[in-house]
Amino acid sequence: MAVIPNYIDGEWREPPSGGRLPVINPATGEVLALAPEGDAADVNCAAEAAARAFPAWRATPPADRIQFLFRLKQLLEEHFEEIASLITRENGKTLPESRGELRRGIENVEVACGIPALMQGYNLEDVASGIDEILFRQPLGVVAVITPFNFPAMIPLWFLPYAIACGNCLVLKPSEKVPLTMQRIVELIGRTGLPPGVVNVVNGARPAAEALIDHPLVRAVSFVGSTPAAKAVYARAAAKGKKAQCQGGAKNHVVVLPDADLDSASQVVCDSAFGCAGQRCLAVSAAITVGEARERFRRSIAGLAGSLKVGCGFEQGVQMGPVITPQSLQRIEGLVDQGLRSGASAVLDGRGLKVGGFEEGNFIGPVILEGVSPDSPLVDTEIFGPVLSLVEAASLDEAIAILSRSAYGNQASLFTSSGAAARKFRNETPAGNIGINIGVAAPMAYFPFSGWKDSFFGTVHAQGRDAVEFYTEKKVVVERWPKYWSRKF
Ligand code: NAD
Repeated sequence: MAVIPNYIDGEWREPPSGGRLPVINPATGEVLALAPEGDAADVNCAAEAAARAFPAWRATPPADRIQFLFRLKQLLEEHFEEIASLITRENGKTLPESRGELRRGIENVEVACGIPALMQGYNLEDVASGIDEILFRQPLGVVAVITPFNFPAMIPLWFLPYAIACGNCLVLKPSEKVPLTMQRIVELIGRTGLPPGVVNVVNGARPAAEALIDHPLVRAVSFVGSTPAAKAVYARAAAKGKKAQCQGGAKNHVVVLPDADLDSASQVVCDSAFGCAGQRCLAVSAAITVGEARERFRRSIAGLAGSLKVGCGFEQGVQMGPVITPQSLQRIEGLVDQGLRSGASAVLDGRGLKVGGFEEGNFIGPVILEGVSPDSPLVDTEIFGPVLSLVEAASLDEAIAILSRSAYGNQASLFTSSGAAARKFRNETPAGNIGINIGVAAPMAYFPFSGWKDSFFGTVHAQGRDAVEFYTEKKVVVERWPKYWSRKF
């Protein structure tokens, strides 16, 4: 069985013999490869290679640095279908979903090609008589990126292109569950001619991530994963005086008002809740209907979700793939069980699903629950699976009050035809990404991915101008040239 090598200093290096983690196809149970359990020694090699590459890379003009990204964009386009297939193989999502994620990832490469404009500072002549002030942005040095399983290509690409375009060198630790996609993308990065050490990949799980955060050469940490891990990474990085941006979990609510186009609302909410088998940090997991929206929305979404075709993501017509691991499946089914025991009832119960020909796959069909008690663990636990809870409210105010109680603040959406209701919602709702008649309010690459509350720990987010802010530090220069000032030439 192939062991995935680490990519350090422009070379593929066999990791030292040690622990191995199986990479498993969630639709078939097949072991695809073995990922090494990277340790502090691997991390050290990668961080040192990055630090060696940094002086020459930061001195490379931004306009030259982005030429490698133009080449990467081209290579990603040429290998688009192959990479999308790899995502489906190791993550399980459907092929159209994999294509969608890769497209979103490539958009970040495109935006980072604007670095010569995005990275500019500003200045002012004569801040005092004969004195000028200039603000430059400089790269930080070695930066670390640690990513989750649910977007094997897109989430690393939320960070990598901006980090290197700004002049940093990077060590990435992909999710141990889905390392193959980045292995392939890094092969393509190698083909761009990027100098060795600018991008390094160390495979492994939590110990490798912790060694990376702690490494003295690492100046900043970008993290995406569950809230407990994001919180721990933020605290760990801060304790060492490092910059950190840590995106965590979510519990996203949608509010459906009676004046919404209920047919389209149900379709969009169905896609949001059950797309990628509910394993998206922007998936809607609770739908709050206001007043008379309840009955029609309930009937409509149950019909749509009940007709979704669940199966292997490669099969034609399949709309929902498996969840990532058998443990994940067990956890999701257990939470549904707890919800039912605490008084909820199932409008649709996809547990126990078997897909013909894929008996070893981690499949669960869509689950819709109603009457979830406010004390149920379902209310504020991130389920991260295809489970939607239906909640009722008497007014928009009550709906906003319900969703405001959540510890998370990644996304909230409203379905309505009223501009006034939309304005109130976007003004009062405590979440960083708001959708108005949108089910997955995923910001485009040139906007920040803006989680709030327990969905984000840090100050500046991923993507766009926030990424430039994160991957640079500002230097202010105040200058006086006395000869010129006294006009003696
Ligand atoms: P996870 O937290 O288990 O792992 C994420 C990454 O962190 C992996 O690379 C893992 O090896 C590493 N890791 C795990 N525990 C760690 C720790 N204590 N210290 C340092 N590193 C650690 O998450 P996952 O199961 O891979 O991904 C799903 C989670 O990610 C969900 O909670 C989802 O909401 C969240 N997510 C959030 C966003 C967002 O933008 N907010 C996007 C995607 C996924």
